Amino acid sequence: MSEHHAEPPPAVVTEPLGVQYATGPLLGKGGFAICHEAELLENEKPTGQVFALKIVRTKMQNPKLTQKFVTELQIHSKLAHPNIVLFHRAFSLAESTYVVLSVCSNGSLADLLKRRKFLTMPEIRRILIQISGAVKYLHHRNIVHRDLKTGNLFLDENMNVKVGDFGLAALLVDPKDMCGKRRTTMCGTPNYLAPEILDRRGHGEAVDLWAIGCIATSFTLATGRAPFHAGTKEEIYAKAKAREFAWPELAKCDNDISADMRQLVDSIFVSEDLRPRPDTLVSHAFFKFNFIPECLPPLNTKTKPIWP
Ligand code: ADP
Repeated sequence: MSEHHAEPPPAVVTEPLGVQYATGPLLGKGGFAICHEAELLENEKPTGQVFALKIVRTKMQNPKLTQKFVTELQIHSKLAHPNIVLFHRAFSLAESTYVVLSVCSNGSLADLLKRRKFLTMPEIRRILIQISGAVKYLHHRNIVHRDLKTGNLFLDENMNVKVGDFGLAALLVDPKDMCGKRRTTMCGTPNYLAPEILDRRGHGEAVDLWAIGCIATSFTLATGRAPFHAGTKEEIYAKAKAREFAWPELAKCDNDISADMRQLVDSIFVSEDLRPRPDTLVSHAFFKFNFIPECLPPLNTKTKPIWP
């Protein structure tokens, strides 16, 4: 995919406003974007305000990818929520489009999971509440993210979760010739495919809740993997359709998976019409009677935190 990656010049200036950013270290590479730190300059002097600069080569050979990126910008630019990566501006220079986003200096939840192997129940409660808040906000605006996964959930400097990467997001419209709001086409493959997508019955907002179920489970598995895991795509799909996955054996992973956590996940892996929406999800017993930390432990904690 390197044809899509463009190294940035040392400084970029937006047209026609003339806002200047000095580009900094690489933050990460995705399927079709490269992301660098960038500091806002004023009169060519550093301001200390640091952003994430997502760079995409605009003249992509695949017109479908170009359309996907345009949709991503159209959707992301209209969003403002404490648990969604903030979009500041986008501009084109030479052959690339630059997107200025709030920087998430603590990486993604996938990185966190790699370091820690599994998370504790209080941490999972806090993270799921934050994701559910963002998803409620999106669904209220008829937006489905469609690719919620640990690699698209970032952590800011205060270890708050920010949903990012709207590359597969869709605005659900309600055309008269369709029953309900459904989408049947998608460019790209989301990670946690809900059964209704696999059965080609089209997909609505419930696919994001299925993904939350997968994320919650993967926090406990101590493998960093998704719950429906197998050697081939076909086997993965068969397992997802059959809701077939195994919780880890307690003796092997030292993770105390509570009964209400298991019940919460069971309540999500059901048919889409019965799947809890964000408000119902966060009123589950898992959240109600248990400790929710005010902040996550710092990133460098490799061992599991001890909660009161
Ligand atoms: P793609 O759309 O190509 O998948 P992503 O949006 O996932 O690209 O970005 C690629 C990588 O850049 C991410 O995996 C992450 O490492 C980094 N990144 C993206 N957005 C941010 C951000 N706001 N703050 C910090 N790093 C980010």
